[in-house]
Formats: sequence, structure tokens, C-alpha cells
Amino acid sequence: MAELAICQDCNQPYLTSEGCTRLRLDGRERVPLPGDWGEPCRDCATPPGGIHHRGCCVEHCSVCGDQARFCGCGGEVPHGGRAHVSHGPGRA
Ligand SMILES: [Zn+2]
Ligand SMILES: [Zn+2]
Ligand SMILES: [Zn+2]
Repeated sequence: MAELAICQDCNQPYLTSEGCTRLRLDGRERVPLPGDWGEPCRDCATPPGGIHHRGCCVEHCSVCGDQARFCGCGGEVPHGGRAHVSHGPGRA
């Protein structure tokens, strides 16, 4: 994320914004950081309760539960898909 200072979705700088303003991505609802997270996202600096910016490695897909930047599910739940989204501060 070092060289990418501006989010391509909301055109805000990662480190100074209140979270992404694009609430849907590829037809999927995005998963905000829990309000009780306690610290800004370690990757995109979104505060608790905000939506991760594009490319954040902490964001999870709301549909398949995988890392949003890698899942590639396109909003379709795979066969026997899991819809769980796990979060925890300080862990990948
Ligand atoms: Zn953004
Ligand atoms: Zn993030
Ligand atoms: Zn997915």
C-alpha cells in the first residue's frame, strides 16, 4: 500500500479520510470496520465503523468471507459458500 496514497474508489487519501464513501463494490456490500474495533485499520487507516478503502488487505468480502482484494467471487456465494466474516484486531 506504500505507493498508493489515494483510494481509487473515493479519491480520498488513505491516511486522512474517515473511511471509504463507496459502500458497494462489484455488487457486494462492503464490510465496515466494527465500531468497537478500538483502533484504525492497520492497512488503510480507516477508523472504527468506517468502510475500508480499495485494496485494503484487512477488508473481508461480505459474500464469501475471503480477503476482499483476493476473493474474486464477484458477489456470488460459491457452492457451500461460507458467509462468515471474521475480524480481530492485530491479526490477519
Ligand atoms: Zn476509499
Ligand atoms: Zn482497512
Ligand atoms: Zn468474495
